[in-house]
Amino acid sequence: MGKVYLVGAGPGAPDLLTLRAARLLGEADIVFYDALVHPDTLKLATKARLVDVGKRNGKASTEQRFTNRALVEAAKSHAVVVRLKGGDPMIFGRAQEELDALAAAGIECDVVPGITAAHAASASLGVSLTRRGLSRNVAFVTPRAGEGQSPVEWLAVASAADTIALYMASTQAHAVATDLIAAGRTPDTPAVFIENASLPSERRVVTTLQALRSGPTPSFEGPAILLVGEVFRELSLSVMEHEAELRLAVTERCQAKSA
Ligand code: SAH
Repeated sequence: MGKVYLVGAGPGAPDLLTLRAARLLGEADIVFYDALVHPDTLKLATKARLVDVGKRNGKASTEQRFTNRALVEAAKSHAVVVRLKGGDPMIFGRAQEELDALAAAGIECDVVPGITAAHAASASLGVSLTRRGLSRNVAFVTPRAGEGQSPVEWLAVASAADTIALYMASTQAHAVATDLIAAGRTPDTPAVFIENASLPSERRVVTTLQALRSGPTPSFEGPAILLVGEVFRELSLSVMEHEAELRLAVTERCQAKSA
């Protein structure tokens, strides 16, 4: 019987991988990887068979059952099996289902942590998720409901938290903002989307709950995380200032032209 490692691949940038993860990839005989794993990270698995088990937007649980079974089967014929997951395996990664399936089959398993999207996003923005006098807690939540869960369960925790990191929330931003305001958050609470955090294609949209409630929902091609809270106020003010400067510059240019 081989051993299975649930390994965090980090948020995207291949050099945000732990040394342990890199070593295990080099030793792996087979690697089951997610949709969000960077190709350069996969290149570290020099002798492994690579199996794509990627699913975007949390598709059917039958796929999860397939992955669970595939890991168990792989451990029967491979010494080192790596299950490579985006970010940290233990944050919205269905890791527990895989751990339970492996334990039930009597297969040894270890978890290697990775950098989760919220941490990569906060690093890119240069804004601490906690801050003396402003934020003493961070909630990692998703508005996406799993089987048998009520869709509003996330709200109680999120609305009470100082800083909120919302995973898998970008398509539901309008509903999220509406619910958070209804639960008592001030409408001008800053909200920041970060798409492809840590990658060269990273993009950010700095906004407010109010704007998300009343305006169009920004659309993203890559994975995006939504961060909400007062810690982002300065960022949001500097963006507004910058926009005001741009508007002024455009107005001045128009006036100069017409003069
Ligand atoms: N285990 C992962 C999360 C998987 S859920 C982790 O710890 O990061 C998938 C969600 O994670 C996406 O919908 C998005 O909200 C977020 N995400 C993952 N990678 C991201 C990235 N590079 N930039 C922004 N958000 C990301």
